[in-house]
Amino acid sequence: MEEKLKIYTYPDAVLRITTEPVENIDGDIQKLIDGMGETMYGAPGIGLAANQVGEKKRILVYDLTPKDEARNLSVIINPEIVLAEGDIIHEESCLSVIDFAAEIKRHAKIKVRGVNRDGDPVDIEAEGLLAVCLQHEIDHLNGTLFIDHISSIKRALYKKKLTKMLKKA
Ligand SMILES: [Zn+2]
Repeated sequence: MEEKLKIYTYPDAVLRITTEPVENIDGDIQKLIDGMGETMYGAPGIGLAANQVGEKKRILVYDLTPKDEARNLSVIINPEIVLAEGDIIHEESCLSVIDFAAEIKRHAKIKVRGVNRDGDPVDIEAEGLLAVCLQHEIDHLNGTLFIDHISSIKRALYKKKLTKMLKKA
């Protein structure tokens, strides 16, 4: 079992980088994926992007399996959205944005293309919570946070709240 990794939180600059495609899925990448899985489960969360743990790599992991069922870690390397349609509004939160949730509008149905950890191509058709989760994680890999999708007034309020919280800590 891999050790948990540090989760970087807003406003850390690593959350604003554009991650780079993985060209060679070597042992280090496998180790990173396992570490990301442990970190996500430990948090707990349903998805995690590599730059949330400080790695500039285009990798995301997720698991929407109910907590009382066996874990089923899914990995997409170099994911890209190749189809998107409809709208869905869903409340989102993020392991990198402490103590905040907001309703965000996303595409209701998407198709994501990438490769799995064995290097095999995958096409994932997603709707509902999975579509929301994948769009949220792919946003991360492009340096975007869910709070970028809320109004500037709400974002300013969150920044104020966060500054207060950080002062107390
Ligand atoms: Zn997130």
